[in-house]
Amino acid sequence: MQVIDSLKEMIHLSRNWDKNQKIGFVPTMGALHTGHLALVKQSLESCDITIVSIFVNPAQFGANEDFSRYPKTFEEDYQSLLDLGVDYIFLPNSNQMYPQNYKTWINLDAITEVLCGASRPGHFTGVATIVLKLVNLVRPTLMYMGEKDFQQIVVLETMLTDLNLETKIVRCPIVRNEFGLALSSRNRYLSDQERMIAPEIFKAMQALRASFRNEIIDTSELLSQLEKSLVEKGFKIDYSEIVDSATLERVKLVRRGDRLLVAVFLGNTRLIDNMEI
Ligand code: AMP
Repeated sequence: MQVIDSLKEMIHLSRNWDKNQKIGFVPTMGALHTGHLALVKQSLESCDITIVSIFVNPAQFGANEDFSRYPKTFEEDYQSLLDLGVDYIFLPNSNQMYPQNYKTWINLDAITEVLCGASRPGHFTGVATIVLKLVNLVRPTLMYMGEKDFQQIVVLETMLTDLNLETKIVRCPIVRNEFGLALSSRNRYLSDQERMIAPEIFKAMQALRASFRNEIIDTSELLSQLEKSLVEKGFKIDYSEIVDSATLERVKLVRRGDRLLVAVFLGNTRLIDNMEI
């Protein structure tokens, strides 16, 4: 496994990919857990070459968010990726990705202004910009992304299509712990007590899904029940919504195939989760 920390080297490598080979790419911010490694395994199984990038992208964090304390565990990340048989780690730094006088940003209409985009203004501009830059540097055939960040996938698929890029996203299912909590690098922030409460998000979402038995139901009724049960457990609601899974537009009446998305605070930690209804 080779660590590439120069953009020049990455460009040289990617411009010489063998056209007959499938190049798999897994962009991450490090602090890898089993959820990240599931994406890596999928790439290793289907592609000839697998590259994992580790870059904590300052542009996707808001001023009061956790950029400066975002967990960094490079030694462990390196070992996990080595054990799995990854070919390359791409490890750029902020000065390389955003040199002084950097000016170019990718904005998408509408779909970046709802859900997490409404709570975290500018977040998806940061995400779209860094992913476009990474895709241009790495030139992958397939990019593996987790449904944990459902809106992110929809935003990035839209960007790839709109900009006529050839890279395709492979959607990978959410990996959860034994109690149902979606794995996240941010789970490290949780206290022992919060860790016990956190799986209630998944339970509340499952309860909502179970209460919908194909009959026509007003979304707001289902969501207010879900929010009530989460508030009782000690969560602060950021948002809960049921949306069309392709357009991310809010639906009034729920249909199978719609997507439930939830963002909550537990103490100071913001947790997100989603599931298909
Ligand atoms: P991050 O390091 O948080 O930027 O995540 C990198 C990639 O891993 C993104 O495509 C995430 O959606 C994905 N990912 C993070 N957590 C999970 C999880 N629990 N299950 C599946 N994919 C995940």
